[in-house]
Amino acid sequence: MKDSTARKKARQPDPMKVAADDRKVALARSAEVKALIAEFLKVKDKIPTGLKLEKEYTKAKKRILKVLGGSEKDWGNYKWHLKNRIENVDTLGKIVRLSRKEINEIRKTGEQYRWGISPYYASLIDPADSNCPVRKQAIPSVKEHLDTSEIKDPMIIKYNSPAPLISRLYPDRLIINVTNMCSMFCRHCLRRKDIGGKDLIYSHSQLRGALDYIRENEEIRDVLLTGGDALALSDDQLDWILAELDKIPHVEIKRLGSRMPCVLPQRITPELCRMLERHDPVYLNTQYNHPKEITTDAKKAVDMLTKAGVVVRDQTVLLKGINNDPHVMKVLMHEMLRIKVAPYYIFNCKKVEGIRHFRTSIQEGLNIMEHLRGYTSGMAVPTYIITAPEGRGKTPIAPQYVLNTNFDGEVLIRTWGGHVLCYEDERTN
Ligand code: SF4
Repeated sequence: MKDSTARKKARQPDPMKVAADDRKVALARSAEVKALIAEFLKVKDKIPTGLKLEKEYTKAKKRILKVLGGSEKDWGNYKWHLKNRIENVDTLGKIVRLSRKEINEIRKTGEQYRWGISPYYASLIDPADSNCPVRKQAIPSVKEHLDTSEIKDPMIIKYNSPAPLISRLYPDRLIINVTNMCSMFCRHCLRRKDIGGKDLIYSHSQLRGALDYIRENEEIRDVLLTGGDALALSDDQLDWILAELDKIPHVEIKRLGSRMPCVLPQRITPELCRMLERHDPVYLNTQYNHPKEITTDAKKAVDMLTKAGVVVRDQTVLLKGINNDPHVMKVLMHEMLRIKVAPYYIFNCKKVEGIRHFRTSIQEGLNIMEHLRGYTSGMAVPTYIITAPEGRGKTPIAPQYVLNTNFDGEVLIRTWGGHVLCYEDERTN
């Protein structure tokens, strides 16, 4: 017994003693990978992030409170933000710098598409920068009403709604569209057709049809409540739906689709968190599109959710002029991980009327993925998704890492760093 322990010890390599030649190779490899981050390090600190802009945001908050006649206490209250949503170009003009031309364009676009900005989200806009990535997501652009060539219903409801308020595209999960309300109207929204008109809250009897469908289909184990924004519902309305889902034995998890942690983090209150904790397990899918959106308030909101056991994940939309840059996207992923939001998807921006100016090519998205995989932690690498036509669902796409599978027992691979190597495979039969 003693002998075999001694033998094992003798065979075990001592990490403190590496042969000089091996150390040389390791040093050369370390220098090789270190060189691959040099370009990112040069630009990283020039990319604005919300956690570093706290002073500017505090100044903007004071300015907005003055314009809207609110108090510090009001700022912490999400109902005040909803009541004081900025929907008027004259008020907006007191908060951000607008030229006469821009004022006219916002008015014109507003006749066709609804717009509204939560005071909180407005405080993240750089008032003097017409290219501010937050501004582009919030303030209507003339490009919206000039674009009339695209698909009006990207969700293709007619093919995917087997029961009222339900969208079903997959075998074991589905969506209940619980409202069309949002705290603000993102300029890149795919669902602008649904949120454009009157705010809709469905009665219990309207929602019962959707719940009955879930009850009758035992393979449904995962239900996503979305809209609009699921957290636009009151705590009581949400509590009722979640309680109804909890009574269905085959529903294992509930998910909420909400942009509130990004556009109105004040919505995440202790009362909401206590209620969500009662319906464990709950997941929340949110949407951050630029590092400027990762603020102290966003962090506080995510902290409260995670303490209540809610798992928070992100679904970024790839948007031209906002995040279609590999370095910006990488900083966004890093900032999200810092506040404990897990990157989950990057969506290619879909063809929808009024948002063409935000679209990038798929190749641009693939290039971003190429710069994430391997270059940073796997946790910071979401799946890149295009939503297939005809309502056929999410389709993951990725750069090619398998170059050839025809070799006898070997696969030709390209590593993230660009090395082409043969990988020994197992025969399938
Ligand atoms: S919160 Fe979501 S649903 Fe609402 S406008 Fe923004 S992207 Fe659209």
